[in-house]
Amino acid sequence: MPETTRFAPSPTGYLHLGTAKAALFAAAEANGGRFLVRIENIDHTRCRPEFETAMLEGLAWLGLCWEKPVRRQSEHMASYSAATRRLQDMNLLYPCFCTRADIARAGEAPHGPAGPDGPIYPGTCRSLTVREGNARIDRGEAYALRLRTDDATTRAGTLSWIDLDRGEQTATPEIFGDVVIARKDVPTSYHLACTWDDAEQGVSLVTRGEELFPATHVHRLLQHLLALPTPRYRHHGLVLGADGKKLSKRDRALDIRSLREAGHTPAQVIDMAMARASPTDCRS
Ligand code: GLU
Repeated sequence: MPETTRFAPSPTGYLHLGTAKAALFAAAEANGGRFLVRIENIDHTRCRPEFETAMLEGLAWLGLCWEKPVRRQSEHMASYSAATRRLQDMNLLYPCFCTRADIARAGEAPHGPAGPDGPIYPGTCRSLTVREGNARIDRGEAYALRLRTDDATTRAGTLSWIDLDRGEQTATPEIFGDVVIARKDVPTSYHLACTWDDAEQGVSLVTRGEELFPATHVHRLLQHLLALPTPRYRHHGLVLGADGKKLSKRDRALDIRSLREAGHTPAQVIDMAMARASPTDCRS
């Protein structure tokens, strides 16, 4: 069945075999439907336009065609702010003033539970009163906005989604604790911007690497809270480096430009990307 799929890279490095595989997988899963590209560049400290240009050049060299224009998250901050305000109006967000160091210290406590993204936020700022929070905001303290995940899940009731390989999944967003909805430096987070954009772009099938499987628990909750449609999901195994670990953008030898300069053809590079899948590839 034709689908609308997307490749949603963060331009924090050159296109390598791992990101190329995500693009090839998404394009194939469109199955004659629409294949979109979305640049997830909310992190202005790590994302660079030259990486975006190189990624798009790499995709074109591999022979991929995507629907224009490319969506850039940096151009849609007002939409994310509006979505954040809706969650605020539901009393589901609270300001969090903790630094990374504060959170890391709390996570080192023997009882600190770990979530898919690391230690679960210990809830330090959750009990601040509105007056205390506002006073700190007025003093100019930087703050993120976190979701009151337990209130949100209580409000939502049982939620599920369809993973095409694993079947129906029940959402358990509490495994992440109180996730960040708006970061200190930008009025959104990966979870909010990605969920919003998948709906905004009419994505019917979200494809991404296995490592992002847990994120859907949070995305499904946000879809419910913001009255957005729920796409279906499918995951691909990661491309592994020579050490058997997930390929990183620092692994320069396996970036598409280096492989091209070394004389490989697009067909050879496509074979390499697809053949180097990890054994957990659920479609293999
Ligand atoms: N931007 C994410 C990444 O580069 C992918 C997000 C997604 O596919 O949901 O890892």
